[in-house]
Amino acid sequence: MQQDSIRRSDIAADSVELQEADLQRRGSIEMQPASLGKSPNASNPTQLKVLVIEDEENIIELIKLGLRYEGFQVEAVSDGLEGLTITQRINPDIVILDLGLPSGSIDGLEVCRRLRINPTTQDVPVLILTARGEVEDRVAGLKTGADDYLTKPFSFEELVARIHAILRRQRRSSVSIPGNSALEREGQVLQFGDLRLHMTTREVNRAGRHIELTVTEFNLLHLFMSHPRQVLDRQTILNKVWGYDFLGETNIIEVYVRYLREKIEDSPSTPRLIQTVRGVGYVLKD
Ligand code: CA
Repeated sequence: MQQDSIRRSDIAADSVELQEADLQRRGSIEMQPASLGKSPNASNPTQLKVLVIEDEENIIELIKLGLRYEGFQVEAVSDGLEGLTITQRINPDIVILDLGLPSGSIDGLEVCRRLRINPTTQDVPVLILTARGEVEDRVAGLKTGADDYLTKPFSFEELVARIHAILRRQRRSSVSIPGNSALEREGQVLQFGDLRLHMTTREVNRAGRHIELTVTEFNLLHLFMSHPRQVLDRQTILNKVWGYDFLGETNIIEVYVRYLREKIEDSPSTPRLIQTVRGVGYVLKD
């Protein structure tokens, strides 16, 4: 009883910070240029599906808004048992699971345990959310088969990074039979010239040669390949890849474009694919 009330107050304190983060995030989303023409909420079959099992509205909203903007399809549910049912029904690519679900249903640890013993859900990656200080719960969560955990309050960038890391690990361990048809399905691969980018495996190759990219390099290339021959201004790139809504004096884009060129261009010093548009930004060209 007492423990429960302590946790609730911890969570309430965290929620304030998350709300602030949420507001900042909304602010940045409203500043997105409309020119890219893709609604963040539009659903399409190539999107990765995220199921959020969490009872705090503001956290759900933060995750929904942010991940939809990142291109994920997001569903959320606040009840543990319902979470199990929906996991079976929609077969998500990852489950984000809060350990502190309201009493009356099953808690997060039990959700995780049941996901793991059910053959239809045993392989779904699980990222646990815990309130600060619940070390034992985190350990228990990982023991029940969760893939990773994140302590509240968390930054949205951290959440996205963890999700991508888990999805990459999952794929490395579950692939790969050569010619695996699921990976070759049309729509899951972006192609531009001899560059191929697999959206689900996050693998990139050029003329059949595998190219190892970091998360940020991949996201940057993904942005270019999603908008081929379209000049992307620096503000748009910063928003889309880093989630920043300010430009400042940062040269982060230049740095990462250089990294990317070194990996994908034949001659990085005279780039042909990713070209600089002076005073504006960059464009992916044939
Ligand atoms: Ca909770």
